[in-house]
Amino acid sequence: LFITFEGGEGAGKSTQIQRLAVRLRRKGYDVVVTREPGGSPGAEALRHIILSGAAEPFGPRMEAILFAAARSDHVEQVIRPAVKSGAIVLCDRFLDSSRVYQGAGSETELAFVNALGRIALNGMEPDLTLIFDLDSEVGLKRATQRRGEEAADRFEKETLEIHQARRAAFLAIAEQEPDRCVVIDASATEEEVEDKVTEAVFAMIEK
Ligand code: C5P
Repeated sequence: LFITFEGGEGAGKSTQIQRLAVRLRRKGYDVVVTREPGGSPGAEALRHIILSGAAEPFGPRMEAILFAAARSDHVEQVIRPAVKSGAIVLCDRFLDSSRVYQGAGSETELAFVNALGRIALNGMEPDLTLIFDLDSEVGLKRATQRRGEEAADRFEKETLEIHQARRAAFLAIAEQEPDRCVVIDASATEEEVEDKVTEAVFAMIEK
């Protein structure tokens, strides 16, 4: 099984992935936790280039291609083998983040990202995607507090409007693909969010 976690900044995805991994392992499941950009040695190297700001002169299409290159490596090196071996793979961000971050500019850009996605995924579609939804202002505050130097450059230039547009784009994906996506209200307490996540995941496992 392949489960992806998506949503804006500071929505608590990483915390919830860790909690879910503990729960699933306690029940005896083999769990692999991974993230994007990155997740395999080659993809982590690209993550550094992309998020450090070094990719800025590359332009949006090149950035989208770099994300896709990293994703392809991550899928073939880590995700597909783990799923094949029977593990539950929990991935912090995946193609939906690219749809929202790299494809938000226009329909043309989105089509470009989706085309790259077909190549990078090579059939490795998530079985379930949890979309963490949070007021953008709250999310930004949370994220700024914990943000390290990586991505700080990119991050500071982004306006609240950009974050609100991304929130809307994630919700639009959830609406378009209701069989795959579950929206999680990330404004609730950590325990409440954990309950919702657990509910959605076990509903899928037991299906
Ligand atoms: O929130 P997280 O630490 O997972 O995000 C890392 C950063 O990577 C995000 O703030 C976002 O700017 C960037 N990102 C991106 N495109 C993706 C995935 C992540 O721009 N497809």
